[in-house]
Amino acid sequence: MIDLSGKSAVVTGGSRGIGRAIVLRFAEQGADVAFSYRGNEAAALDTVGEVERLGRRGLAHQADVTDPAAAEGLIAAALAAFGKVDILVNNAGITRDDLIMRMSIDAWRDVLETNLFGAFYAIKAVMRPMLKARSGRIINITSVSGQAGNAGQANYSSAKAGLIGLTRATAREVASRGITANAVAPGFVLTELTETLPEPIQANIRSATPLGRFGTADEVAAAVAFLASDEASYITGHVLAVDGGLVMM
Ligand code: NDP
Repeated sequence: MIDLSGKSAVVTGGSRGIGRAIVLRFAEQGADVAFSYRGNEAAALDTVGEVERLGRRGLAHQADVTDPAAAEGLIAAALAAFGKVDILVNNAGITRDDLIMRMSIDAWRDVLETNLFGAFYAIKAVMRPMLKARSGRIINITSVSGQAGNAGQANYSSAKAGLIGLTRATAREVASRGITANAVAPGFVLTELTETLPEPIQANIRSATPLGRFGTADEVAAAVAFLASDEASYITGHVLAVDGGLVMM
C-alpha cells in the first residue's frame, strides 16, 4: 500500500483531467496537496473540496506555468500553507496540433512554453527548499508522443521529449541530495485534452494499443503516486510508460 501520510505535494494543472486524479490520489494516500490551474476556477474549487472531503489540506492557486514568477509564487504558497514541499508533479500541459507546414509560430511557442519551460520554472522554484531538506520527489508528465514522435504534434512531441531530457539532467544533478526525478509517459487517456479526437482516430488508437483501450486518469495517477512514495527510493531518471503497451521501449 502506497503511503504518503505527512507528505506535502505540489501539482501543476490540478483542476481537471490527469492532474486532478493525481491530486485526489495523493490526498487519498495521506498527503496535503497544493495545485495550480490556469483559469478554470470552478473546477479548481471543486478539486479542493474533494481533497478536504478526504480529510487532507488542499490549496488551489491560480498560476500560469509559463510565468516564472508565478511558479515561484506557487511554491511559496505551498511552503506557507504546509511548511515544506516533498513532491512536485509537473502535469500542466496543452496541445495545439497541426502539420509543420501549417503550424503557426505561436502554436509552436505556446506548447513549448507550457509543457517544457513551465516544468523547468517549477523545478527551479522548488530546488532550494528540496536541496535544503535533502529529500524530494520530482515527477514530470511526458507522453508517448515525446518518446515515439507523432505526426501533427511537432511542438508537443518536442516539448515532451525535452521533458525527458530535463528529467534525466535533474536526476543526475540532485541525486546526491536525496532527490529523485522521474517521468511518467501516458499513452492515450480520455480527458478534455483527447475527447475531441474524431471517433475514427480514437478507433485507430484503440486498435494500435495492445491492451485495446484508452487509459484512465486514475491509472496514470497510480503510477505517479508510486514514484512519489518511499517505495520508489532507488528509482531515478526513469520514464515509466502507462500506455497499454503502445510504445514498449
Ligand atoms: P486537461 O486539458 O484535461 O487538463 C489540463 C490541466 O492543465 C488543467 O488543470 C489546466 O488548468 C492546466 N493548465 C493548462 N495550461 C496551463 C497553464 N499555462 N498554467 C497552469 N495550468 C495550466 O489535460 P490532461 O489531464 O489530459 O493532461 C495532463 C497532462 O498529461 C499534460 O501534460 C498532457 O500533455 C499529459 N498527457 C495527457 C495524455 C492524454 O491522453 N490525456 C496523454 C499523454 C500525456 P485549467 O483547468 O485552469 O484550464
